[in-house]
Amino acid sequence: MRVLGIETSCDDTSVAIYDNKHGLIYDKTLNQDIVHSCFGGVVPELAARSHINQLIFLIQKSIKKLQYHVRYNKNKKIVDLIAYTAGPGLIGSLLVGATMGCTLSCSWNIPCIGVNHLEGHIFSVMLQKNKPTFPFLSLLVSGGNTQLIYVFEIGKYKILGETLDDAVGNVFDKVAQQLNLKYPGGPKLSQLAKFGKKSNYYFPRPMIKSLNFNFSFSGLRTYTENIIKTSQKTFQNQANIAKAFEDAAIETLVLKCKYALKKTGLNTLVVCGGVSSNLVLRYQLKKLMSSLYGNIFFAKKKFCTDNAAMIAYTGYLKSKKYHSFVSNSIFVNPKWTISQI
Ligand code: ATP
Ligand code: FE
Repeated sequence: MRVLGIETSCDDTSVAIYDNKHGLIYDKTLNQDIVHSCFGGVVPELAARSHINQLIFLIQKSIKKLQYHVRYNKNKKIVDLIAYTAGPGLIGSLLVGATMGCTLSCSWNIPCIGVNHLEGHIFSVMLQKNKPTFPFLSLLVSGGNTQLIYVFEIGKYKILGETLDDAVGNVFDKVAQQLNLKYPGGPKLSQLAKFGKKSNYYFPRPMIKSLNFNFSFSGLRTYTENIIKTSQKTFQNQANIAKAFEDAAIETLVLKCKYALKKTGLNTLVVCGGVSSNLVLRYQLKKLMSSLYGNIFFAKKKFCTDNAAMIAYTGYLKSKKYHSFVSNSIFVNPKWTISQI
């Protein structure tokens, strides 16, 4: 079975083809950093417009690649299913991908399925040989979400806790902006933090004493921004602040994972979303899991942030499990939570 995946939930345009016998045949993501960087964040209208041009280009490329891969036969379908991101995300951006997915589905007479973007992030870790087995705990850390999810099986999830305000990825980006790092600043802040030294700075670890699985990062963000405003603007000092912030954010995530693993009795942790490519987070969580004799899984770095490979693969898993698809109606839900699946 071959699945064409389309991802356009925010500002990355991505197309992938997953084949259950050969794995990923095509996988390409185009970002829109040039379009949004001068605004310091994503401009929804511009994102949707950019998706239109980039998506058509990527679809054409993917089909060409596919025609090389399989001997083209007019009677045989070269793609069996289309999976597009249906939410959560920006409405204009989602509509571009959904419209493209449904249009191709009608013209090729094949089914299509709207996939939940966050479910896609969780299954991004399965795009590799070594896969986790159910049930497991998932830490989803991305630009729009910070959640601890009990994953029973495909399609069955319980949100144990989540951020009560800002998502951790968003806070990385906002703090980076204050440090004059260009959008998207999260990875750049992390690079800067590598030069940081242990200093007098010690930033708060929010909600680590509360006996639940929720997070709150807006206080840490304000605290860090106030320190930046009132302190020396030397490179070394900025790096020390970046390190103190990163250490605080990551220790908070690690302590909450530890608590959730203890309370649920689960011993497998799946870490996904853009922030899961952070090396300090990876190191600290690996350390935690080895102390608990548990298993930990991360996606490959390129599949941590938004990509269509995870959408194609999740579409494939869903098709195996449910066998039923909507083929001609465009479905998007900008606020589609994982517990509504
Ligand atoms: P969501 O998936 O919740 O809808 P999103 O799709 O915008 O949000 P992702 O693409 O999964 O989010 O992740 C992007 C986020 O990851 C950005 O906020 C970015 O700053 C952050 N990020 C990426 N790399 C790193 C890193 N090395 N350290 C910290 N943050 C990072
Ligand atoms: Fe995402």
